[in-house]
Amino acid sequence: MPNLRALVAELGAAKVKLDLADRVLHRYDAIAEGEIPLAVVYPETTEEVAQVVRFAREAGLPLFVRGGASGLSGGAVPTEEGIVLATNRMTGLTIDPEARLARAQVGVVTAWVSERARAYGLYYPPDPASFKMSTIGGNLAENAGGPQCFKKGVTGDYVVAATFVDAEGRIHEVGGREAHDLLGLLIGSEGTLAVFTEVTLRLEPLPRHTRTLAAFFESVEDAAAAAFEAIRRGVVPAKLEFMDQGCIRAVESAFGYGLDPDAGALLLVDTDGDDLEIVEGELAEVEAAFKAHGARIRRARDAAEAERLWQARRAVSPALGRIKPFKLNEDIAVPRSRLVEVVHGIRELGAAYGFPLVQFGHIGDGNLHPNILYGPGDDEKKVHELAHEIARVALAAGGVITGEHGVGLLKRAFLAEAVDGDTLEAFRALKRALDPEGILNPGKVLP
Ligand SMILES: Cc1cc2nc3c(=O)[nH]c(=O)nc-3n(C[C@H](O)[C@H](O)[C@H](O)COP(=O)(O)OP(=O)(O)OC[C@H]3O[C@@H](n4cnc5c(N)ncnc54)[C@H](O)[C@@H]3O)c2cc1C
Repeated sequence: MPNLRALVAELGAAKVKLDLADRVLHRYDAIAEGEIPLAVVYPETTEEVAQVVRFAREAGLPLFVRGGASGLSGGAVPTEEGIVLATNRMTGLTIDPEARLARAQVGVVTAWVSERARAYGLYYPPDPASFKMSTIGGNLAENAGGPQCFKKGVTGDYVVAATFVDAEGRIHEVGGREAHDLLGLLIGSEGTLAVFTEVTLRLEPLPRHTRTLAAFFESVEDAAAAAFEAIRRGVVPAKLEFMDQGCIRAVESAFGYGLDPDAGALLLVDTDGDDLEIVEGELAEVEAAFKAHGARIRRARDAAEAERLWQARRAVSPALGRIKPFKLNEDIAVPRSRLVEVVHGIRELGAAYGFPLVQFGHIGDGNLHPNILYGPGDDEKKVHELAHEIARVALAAGGVITGEHGVGLLKRAFLAEAVDGDTLEAFRALKRALDPEGILNPGKVLP
């Protein structure tokens, strides 16, 4: 049995939790359940993170880093008895308005960055729908995207520099001056190659104007065709989101946002910029493209109505929880030109397996979230089989098995079908080189 008391002596009892209640709570994330860890540690500084890594290494214990635990691929749950390193007390955040940069410790909640930057007329564009619970560290580890990613890009596009601790407990600073793009390699590595501790993020000026519309369509086909049409016309919406009828009805019956429950699909769009004429012009172009595919349009009259429409989008996940207590939130991305057939294929799979299945996503990027809804009496093995089939539909359409949630624990088995054996071996060689003893998030990503 490793001497965890030595860790308590090193960091202090307030930062090392050994009682069962704390440990049990840290076996879960938003979607998966893992082993009960031996200890949960709350470091506050980079040096303390390094101490924890060195301790774990010397004790031969695996280390599972955890941010907001909002991950949807089981990335943060312990796969074996070990230490959970929770970053929630690493919340230092400073804004440099002149340089348009934020320096954040990794436990900073995503939404806080824009909230703090707003006073200087700045914001942080990556906006996962979980932005009020996810952390900056988790966003880097998953290279998170969000509704704005079609126009603005994903987390990795905003990381200027980072401090990380390697698997041997050494501290490194990276950011632009290296011969190799180490930052690019570590972003999206899902806690398997390094522990991020601090990050420098690029901020952007807040756009002066934003316009929002909701478009209701007869069918998913119409909505998908309308989205292509708008993009083909050269419009780059700030946000372009899709919800199918199942999502619309779930949100309406749970919260009543005034969406049309008889519509077959909904597209939500923002255009933004500093020139009002261009912003209005883009919205008019979107409206014309959508109307050509039979859309009924509702323009938001003011910021409050726009916010209500976006709240309806963010309410999808909680609303689904009222239909069935459990859901498996799948995450694929396919070429936009294949979306209609993919949405169809997945719907048919859901019916064949006998599970309620709804779909929504960042349609501008071809990113789709089919959600399988199920209850305690249902066969979980069948749910996972269906998820695997959905991944196969994405691969057959030239897509990928994860658009933004990562491979984590739940999609490990799919990776072998998504990449060839040589590439898989290259991933394994990389893991051996950076984490020779395999202490960082073992049992994740690599099959
Ligand atoms: C309702 C809902 C909506 C969502 N919407 C989106 C969306 O629009 N876009 C999107 O991309 N995702 C979305 N997600 C998924 C999730 O929020 C993101 O993956 C997010 O980036 C996870 O952040 P976290 O802090 O919660 O990470 P966690 O769940 O705690 O961890 C995720 C992974 O990151 C690793 N990790 C965490 N911190 C660090 C660190 N400091 N260093 C190294 N590794 C680390 C963990 O080990 C784990 O592998 C959504 C989730 C929910 C529940």
